[in-house]
Amino acid sequence: MSKEQKQPHEHHHLTAEELGDRLEHNQKSGNRIFNGLAIFLCIIFLGGMAWGANDILNSSRPSPPEAAVDDTITNPPQSAQEILDYIQAAIADAKAQKPRIETNTAFDYDDNVDFVGLDSAALKDWQGLAKLMMPDVTARLQDSYPSLETQFGEAFDELLWALRVVPAQLEDATCEFVYFRCNSCGKEEGEPLAVCPECRAKNAYQKQYRENYTFTLLFKDDDPSVFANFHPRSPEEMRALLKDDLRGYATLGRFERNYDHARVVVSVNRVTKKLQSIRFLKDIAATLTLDVNPDFANLGTVTVVVNMSESTNFNFTWLGVYLSLNEKTMDKNETAQLAARIDAPNGQKTPLIWRSSNEKICAVDVDGYLETGGEYGEATITASFGLNGKVYEGTCVVYVKVPVEKVKLSHRRLRLAPGETQVLKATVTPKNATNQNVTWGSDATDVATVADGLVRAVGPGKTNIWVCTEDGYYKLTCTVTVTRGGE
Ligand SMILES: [Zn+2]
Repeated sequence: MSKEQKQPHEHHHLTAEELGDRLEHNQKSGNRIFNGLAIFLCIIFLGGMAWGANDILNSSRPSPPEAAVDDTITNPPQSAQEILDYIQAAIADAKAQKPRIETNTAFDYDDNVDFVGLDSAALKDWQGLAKLMMPDVTARLQDSYPSLETQFGEAFDELLWALRVVPAQLEDATCEFVYFRCNSCGKEEGEPLAVCPECRAKNAYQKQYRENYTFTLLFKDDDPSVFANFHPRSPEEMRALLKDDLRGYATLGRFERNYDHARVVVSVNRVTKKLQSIRFLKDIAATLTLDVNPDFANLGTVTVVVNMSESTNFNFTWLGVYLSLNEKTMDKNETAQLAARIDAPNGQKTPLIWRSSNEKICAVDVDGYLETGGEYGEATITASFGLNGKVYEGTCVVYVKVPVEKVKLSHRRLRLAPGETQVLKATVTPKNATNQNVTWGSDATDVATVADGLVRAVGPGKTNIWVCTEDGYYKLTCTVTVTRGGE
């Protein structure tokens, strides 16, 4: 088959109705498709590993490279205890394998300092004074948190804060890794919206999976025992820290502190179970009594409440080579480039070796340039380096795809009574097309809904149920008329 014959508009097997649909769809949404494609391509080129892993998880392409991944999708840790066990296992594994770790603390405060019980004239003066004072205070607090790091292979037990938490201390424990992406423009949301705010596509959101689990442990506000996890400073330490900066203006009297919304956020790669980061976050309401200097004596003693937040982050870098994509679909006789990032000890000479499992399908050169040949199929591209007798490698599976040419529907018109269902069957051709995935949608879900081809009549009216191929965006509609019951 020549290249031209594969172009959709050259197709001779379309019925008049299908062609009408195609043209109508193309006219209406040509721009949308173009935008969708542009965004899709950007994500493909720039999206990196997360996208690659998503593709691996969601597509039904031949021989997915990570068959075992499904288990982690269907069995994410759910209860607080399961989540805590999962996190502790990831921490123990990291301590044994010794990735590089970096830590830093970000400190912030709310500009709206509350001066308790002041009249408006004094308040104005104090607010002015606070504006002078707070940047110094904040800088000193920020500087008191050193940024630390270890190198690959160094133990970090001392550096990493221990996580000592039991389910009873938690208000909530969540595990997030599912999101929804508009099939038409690529917009991401936490839930499937009826209408995409970006491109106005209806019911086009599709379930996706992130590469990492994000666990959030939200602590109960009224249990002081949880704060051992957050390495709080004693009032004496705070006083010592603030002394110099307050000296110009005031003396710190009382110092009290209440924690609010204390939480720990942990990110773990869902596939490799490698720890990516741990963040200890807390909001603090600090109550301070300040006795002002003689220069400001007219202001007297004041009690202030400052809202602060502290976030201490531990980030983990694992020795290895990471490719910009873990999976890529290409056409025949096409070129592309893979970028590789090497995470290895500083200054270590680590020349990368690139190879392809099948040069006829896709060849790779010393810089990661890919070139597909004249055959359909898949090839695994590997970039590797050796260090201290161990080999580290990153892989990307290149699929040279058999493109989708069209989609057919078992019914083009349906007439149903409310509550009735009917299965629509979509057939993607050619039969060996690499990506057989389709998405379904309804233009009016108050008339009829569709899920995986199962149409359910909801209420009287008329709507279009559509199916769209993931490859090529071929779309067909079925007109569904829902009668009033008993007609
Ligand atoms: Zn959209």
